[in-house]
Amino acid sequence: MNHHCRKDQKQRDFIKNEEVDFRNSQLKSVDNYEVSLNLLKGTDYSGTVVIDFKFKQLLQQGQHLQIDYDGQEVNFVELVDQQRQQIRQVDYVFQDQRILISSDQFSGVTVDSVVSIKLKFKNQYYNLDEGLNSTITDQNNQYIYTQGEVANTYKIFPCIEQVNFRATFDLTVTHPASWKVISNEPILSQLNISFDTQKTVFKKSQIALPNYLFTLCAGDYEQYKNIYNDKIGMDTYYRKEKAQYVATQIQDFNDITKFGINFMEQYTKVNYYMDKYDSVYCIDYIYFGMENPGCTTLEERRYVFEQEREPIKIALRSDIIFHEISHMWFGDCISLDWWNNLFLKEGFANFFGYKINKEYFKGKELEWYFEMGKVKVVYGENDPETIFPLSHERGLYQDYQSMEYHNDISYEKGGSVFQMMEQKIYGEQDFQNRMISYFKNNQFTVAGIKQLLAELKEDDSISRKYIFNKGISYYDQGLFKDTYNLGLTSEEYKQLKLKFFAICKQRGKIIEVPHSELDQYSSDKLIIILNNCDGHLVFQRIYKEDLSAISQLNIIEQFNLQLRISLWKAIIFELIQFQKSEDHINFFLDNIRYEQNPVVYHFALRFVPKYFNKWTIEQENKIISVYENEKDKLRNRIVLKNLIRYLFTQENLNYLVTEYLKQTFKIKQKYLDQLTERLDPKSEDYKKLIEKNK
Ligand SMILES: [Zn+2]
Repeated sequence: MNHHCRKDQKQRDFIKNEEVDFRNSQLKSVDNYEVSLNLLKGTDYSGTVVIDFKFKQLLQQGQHLQIDYDGQEVNFVELVDQQRQQIRQVDYVFQDQRILISSDQFSGVTVDSVVSIKLKFKNQYYNLDEGLNSTITDQNNQYIYTQGEVANTYKIFPCIEQVNFRATFDLTVTHPASWKVISNEPILSQLNISFDTQKTVFKKSQIALPNYLFTLCAGDYEQYKNIYNDKIGMDTYYRKEKAQYVATQIQDFNDITKFGINFMEQYTKVNYYMDKYDSVYCIDYIYFGMENPGCTTLEERRYVFEQEREPIKIALRSDIIFHEISHMWFGDCISLDWWNNLFLKEGFANFFGYKINKEYFKGKELEWYFEMGKVKVVYGENDPETIFPLSHERGLYQDYQSMEYHNDISYEKGGSVFQMMEQKIYGEQDFQNRMISYFKNNQFTVAGIKQLLAELKEDDSISRKYIFNKGISYYDQGLFKDTYNLGLTSEEYKQLKLKFFAICKQRGKIIEVPHSELDQYSSDKLIIILNNCDGHLVFQRIYKEDLSAISQLNIIEQFNLQLRISLWKAIIFELIQFQKSEDHINFFLDNIRYEQNPVVYHFALRFVPKYFNKWTIEQENKIISVYENEKDKLRNRIVLKNLIRYLFTQENLNYLVTEYLKQTFKIKQKYLDQLTERLDPKSEDYKKLIEKNK
């Protein structure tokens, strides 16, 4: 998954760790869910589910089988045989999102034999990106989709909601005949059971999956058909209202998806294992994308472009598609043994997302965007409340559910550490061989940190420190330091074969210096900048003396892209981690105009002001002049879009609003809200702004 931060999500008292342990000791396996859903237009649905499972150990007197369900009603529970004939009705209690069945209801059941429980239930659709989420548009079209991660499938139907159990699914859906229905597996048969109702039977899944990957989309979706390698269905679904925009992009969607699947097949030497790879663009979706095997869901608002987008948005669109595709191998085919090693799926997906994107945009200006984007690792690491090692002790289930642990550490740091292993510790070929071996040894099952470590060299202490210790490291005037307890030794830094730029303070001459020769160059006459585009995760401090020397030499125009990225990253690192200094912001204001790469330009304009406390009037005027002097239409727009969030003086604000009203593009609603907060609601501009963003 890729997600927005959801700290506001309401906390649920979810499954306790002791209950997880109890289930693990009691259940040998959860084998299959036979799910029948009856979807109605409007608000309601109902269904039955037959859960096949095996006991590892029979329940003791006083113990209960726990089935999770956060729905409205459970109407009936029975034990059935393999032909689904009733053996007997079962007593149960439905309370606090649990269906509890006591030990005495299982008399005659033996260890290791298949037990089948059938439950009937009723529920309503959600509209909160949970369970079976439904939206009815102004045009009276209805769009339904599921979002299962972290643990939301129990909001759709009763199930045993635990990531370490993998089960197959056998799904039948009854629905309005005009609707399209899409799930992980292709449709096996469709039958009209009345003039406006249809019954769709999906192919039974051959591959067991954790139940958070169960997917169903249904409603007035439209579809572009496509096929990958003559055999894998590769359709795109979207809502009717967006047809004109999707039409202009469908070629891109197809090209990107094919490129991604092909890349992963080549890299892992394992072909994509599902019958299809559909993409569904979902309304009001807040998760960027979700890697449901065979049926990836994606955020419509962000990726279905309705206006010309900046280069960075184009890179982010393919990045998310590649991220979700790589999960088919890392995350789905091999799934987590528990959430405390979330980086084993999200770090891999970020690593591959970037790797494929770099290949896709090779030689183009979008190629390096991830190196710039790595600054996100720093803000994930900068909150003492939430910092944790990549592989951490098991937290509370509800903290995973509320996304406490789904942050920049698991995603960005995880991805960056895998990249560092590839680029700096093992080398591309050796790392790929190890990944192929990890994949072969663990495919179609769960894996944890033990399985990853089994593929690493015994003496690879650097990777282990990054995996098990907190903190990040940085270069500070000739010394390597780290936050928390990362603990890399100077010998280990040498192993990373870092590269540096040495800039002569007097003449501005720039040379590249390897780490091994750095001692000869560190002197008062040189500015030393760590090359930060080199696939590692070491940051750098930068001080005002060096910045003013660079400014005075007026040499930033001569910097190559890698040196510029290294410099901007050092400034952002300094602002986030150490000091919000005037010198750094002034350097940024004086020099940002020389940044030629639109993606780097966008990143710098996005991140530098974000970590600066508040602009002075003089600084505001400077950034306004950057905007005014920017003749290129696209760059001009990048400044305006970012500027609009940070300026406060009335005069500049009015100016910006007037400028924005001249433009055809729209800014995000949340930035518009921040802007209108600062405007007089009776003013003409205020009314025009509201009108424009309708
Ligand atoms: Zn992901």
